[in-house]
Amino acid sequence: MYKTVLITGASRGIGRAIACAFAREGCRLVINCSHSEKELLALADELRETCHVDVLTSIGDVSDYTYMEQLFSQSEARFGGIDILVNNAGISHIGLLEDMTIDEWNRIIGVNLTSVFSASKLALPHMIHQKSGKILNISSIWGNVGASCEVAYSACKGGINSFTRALAKELAPSNIQVNAIACGVIDTEMNSCFSEEERAQLAEEIPAGRFGAPEEVASLAVQITTGNDYLTGQIITLDGGYL
Ligand code: NAP
Repeated sequence: MYKTVLITGASRGIGRAIACAFAREGCRLVINCSHSEKELLALADELRETCHVDVLTSIGDVSDYTYMEQLFSQSEARFGGIDILVNNAGISHIGLLEDMTIDEWNRIIGVNLTSVFSASKLALPHMIHQKSGKILNISSIWGNVGASCEVAYSACKGGINSFTRALAKELAPSNIQVNAIACGVIDTEMNSCFSEEERAQLAEEIPAGRFGAPEEVASLAVQITTGNDYLTGQIITLDGGYL
């Protein structure tokens, strides 16, 4: 039976690479982003053509619960439910906490953390009914150890880590596995704020000597969510030995 995979934030970067990896496995896809419609539609066309898979695209903000309800009802109408949920959409915020406004705080919590609650909650009725399912959350090493000038982002990812461990316990009796990948520095637009010099300096601090590739996150995502039903509640760090 073909699996249906929902990936939030799939227009570029890690989410895009995860969508490509699942398409190569022959999975049906639901892919989302909030702004980059052209890129998302182009990705869907590419995957239909090269991997011969069915792809549903949806534009909307994952922090908006009403939109998330629509996304899941559309997915159910088309595919009958989500078997693998990848909570990937995320934004960063760099700056001192004392300079952060309450609106900026609420925005990052909404996009990075509340979205994980919403998507997981809405995916569950189908997964519980079929007594199987996988939830994979894309987290960060900063959720493990905290980063200066990224307090809100670290709080979101730390929240995701605890959410992952707790929900895994709640859902293990229903044969639903919940895990997270805590990424180190991955070469995507999220890190486009660094100059060439800063990139080189940062790469030098990483024992592997380089940033990770989105494809490396994607292959781990497929590995975690296919096959092993005894793996649950884990925060798996992928950081080239950085921390
Ligand atoms: P990216 O290149 O900036 O891609 C982010 C994706 O999320 C885009 O498709 C973006 O599309 C979408 N998105 C942003 N806000 C959204 C919203 N409100 N609703 C729906 N989609 C939204 O970032 P990335 O590096 O691939 O990051 C993906 C995930 O990995 C994030 O959760 C990030 O925190 C995590 N991560 C990244 C790194 C890293 O070094 N890159 C490290 C650790 C963890 P639109 O702009 O069109 O909405």
